[in-house]
Amino acid sequence: MTTSPRGVAILGSTGSIGTTALRVLGRQGARFRVAALTAFNNAALLREQANQFHPSFVGIVSNGTNAHPGWGCGETCLVDAATRDDVDIVLNAVVGAAGLDATLAALERGKRVALANKETLVMAGDLVEAGRIRGNGEIVPVDTEHSAILQCITGRSGLQVRRVILTASGGPFRSWQPEAIERATLAEALQHPTWRMGRKISVDSATLANKALEVIEAHFLFGLTFEQIDVVVHPQSVVHSFVEFVDGSVLAQLGVPNMELPVLYALTHPERIPDTGVPPFDPVELSPLTFERVRIADFPALRLGIEAGRAGGAAPAVFNAANEAGVSLFLEGRIGFSDIPRAIAAALEELGSLPGHTRDVILAADAAARRHVRERFRC
Ligand code: NAD
Ligand code: MG
Repeated sequence: MTTSPRGVAILGSTGSIGTTALRVLGRQGARFRVAALTAFNNAALLREQANQFHPSFVGIVSNGTNAHPGWGCGETCLVDAATRDDVDIVLNAVVGAAGLDATLAALERGKRVALANKETLVMAGDLVEAGRIRGNGEIVPVDTEHSAILQCITGRSGLQVRRVILTASGGPFRSWQPEAIERATLAEALQHPTWRMGRKISVDSATLANKALEVIEAHFLFGLTFEQIDVVVHPQSVVHSFVEFVDGSVLAQLGVPNMELPVLYALTHPERIPDTGVPPFDPVELSPLTFERVRIADFPALRLGIEAGRAGGAAPAVFNAANEAGVSLFLEGRIGFSDIPRAIAAALEELGSLPGHTRDVILAADAAARRHVRERFRC
């Protein structure tokens, strides 16, 4: 039986996940067709990708369109790409809150969202779920940990899950003393031990804010309480997460650290298709696999994020926005590494009990948190 290839829109096609996805799609042309591509401002790479994959829509947020006749432009191009009739699957690989409206719009149109852009689920999990139900859409995670959980539970009832344990590499400062972490430089923070990723998520992995985002992401994706989600440090990033079932049995999904598999699986779930993107698995070569407790006191962003998730309302959006604002100031060299969790704590203290029941109040809380961080550092 032959079926026509499914149309895929890649939002953020010039980034780390976006370029990974195009490598996967380059091999899987019989099953998937690149229908739309968007980027923030890297017009040169976007043009190269468009020439190679011939999507029916190309959108660029910034950097002008006069030079690119026929391209969509401005912030709305994300929603334009995500809601096209020839798009079945939207890979949202945008970084940060900017991806929210495209996720909502795609779900409301009944599409599958292959979600790398975890920030939008964290800031507006209830809204995203409501949109998914309204439009009969589907969210499939791209994050390795959540992909691992999905791969372990697919075909089973959710009621059989007792607990999940998310693995965390621990980031570049896993074994550093607190005084050294306080003085960490940007170059040091960007040196992730096991993954090559965009700058924002690399810093999030160093503060462990990324793991807090992932705990909240797991809460919304799998309907788990925060008591059912634990985190363990696993420096080799080979075990992508564990699921403990009600009878005490534990399943895990393993693999060489490589994003091509979770990207492919988010497109094919619940099926698997033959692919060659992942290097061979050799347990001896990869050993030893080790596990450690998280040093929660030394990485305060993790605790702050989990507390914000438990508090609900706009607190997760405030956590996310304060973190995004803090990380961008750190990337610009204007604040120190440990100022990021300090800024998050102060923003949550001031704004953490705001309501979060509509898109507009969430965006207002997001804007207030960003303002709070900039004013704190007079930036
Ligand atoms: P990146 O910075 O490499 O790429 C981001 C992409 O989004 C680029 O194409 C950029 O043009 C686009 N973009 C940035 N700001 C935008 C805006 N305001 N509006 C529209 N487009 C914008 O980031 P990345 O590492 O690919 O991460 C993307 C997302 O995937 C993040 O949410 C990250 O947490 C998540 N993620 C990444 C990895 C990884 O291995 N890189 C793993 C798991 C999850
Ligand atoms: Mg992850």
